[in-house]
Amino acid sequence: MNKERLQIAIQKSGRLTKQCIDLLSNCGVKVPIVKDRLIASCENMPIDIMLVRDDDIPLLVNEGISDVGIVGLNVCEEEKLKFKKDNDNEPFSICTSLKYGKCRLSFAYPQLWNKSKKSWSQYLQNTTIATSYPNLVGDFLKKNNIKANIVYMAGSVEAAPRLGKADIICDLVSSGSTLLANNLVEGEIVLESTAVLIKNKTLSSENENLVNRLVKRIEAVQQASERKYILLHAPRKSLKKICDILDSESPSIMPLEGDNDMVALHVLCKENDFWDIAEELKSAGASSILVMPVEKLLP
Ligand code: ATP
Ligand code: ZN
Repeated sequence: MNKERLQIAIQKSGRLTKQCIDLLSNCGVKVPIVKDRLIASCENMPIDIMLVRDDDIPLLVNEGISDVGIVGLNVCEEEKLKFKKDNDNEPFSICTSLKYGKCRLSFAYPQLWNKSKKSWSQYLQNTTIATSYPNLVGDFLKKNNIKANIVYMAGSVEAAPRLGKADIICDLVSSGSTLLANNLVEGEIVLESTAVLIKNKTLSSENENLVNRLVKRIEAVQQASERKYILLHAPRKSLKKICDILDSESPSIMPLEGDNDMVALHVLCKENDFWDIAEELKSAGASSILVMPVEKLLP
């Protein structure tokens, strides 16, 4: 391994892999991924990508084998708690949260389970809970003064109640379809998670600079992905109303050749908001509305 180059660990194969590679590539880190290779060397920057199991990433970063890693906050926080049991100091730091890998670690109980208890904490009292996240669950129970028995399962946690291994489970949920298919109902949320970028605490100054540059690029790419660039034609007399609808501080406004009543307007808009305002714009007289993706957004 070349310690002169920044080592970034990402998941080899799983839910986070494609988005990690796409994000790095949008940040200008071109990675020639070769199947079954542990390390891929970036051609245009002093960076190597390590392709590993997601559960190993916090440990690799903690030990400095990898300088940086991308992993779910769920795995990151579970490993942090494990590490804190033996050591006092924080093992690694979180540089930034990413916009993908969204899920939550939630309790879920069988649909026909005893519903006579009033609160969710009463539901959990004296139960057996199956989970792949014993430290996070244990910490949550302790903070809420709940006594319960935790059973560790590496996978297929949703099957535990049917197999008679547990009353309740605590597992990752995104759409909820797996819970539904297993006749389970989601309860209290332990942790809301996304992928995060973590780094070792003692990087060389060169690598520290490179990570800071990378974080800035990631933020630029993520901000851009939330926005659209909008071009439209607006009647001059409705300009104020249209600017109010777009909630834009400084749109670019240009005259249209041969038409004194209309102007062209360029503006950045949050994508989520766009459909909500499109109809309002039309009724305010906007026309030829063009919506374009933004690749990067540097403040
Ligand atoms: P590996 O083989 O690398 O150990 P894995 O099976 O543990 O992979 P994946 O199922 O690929 O892991 O999930 C990786 C991460 O994706 C999770 O730790 C979590 O942060 C995120 N994630 C997002 N949605 C979900 C979901 N519905 N279920 C599980 N994980 C999810
Ligand atoms: Zn895993």
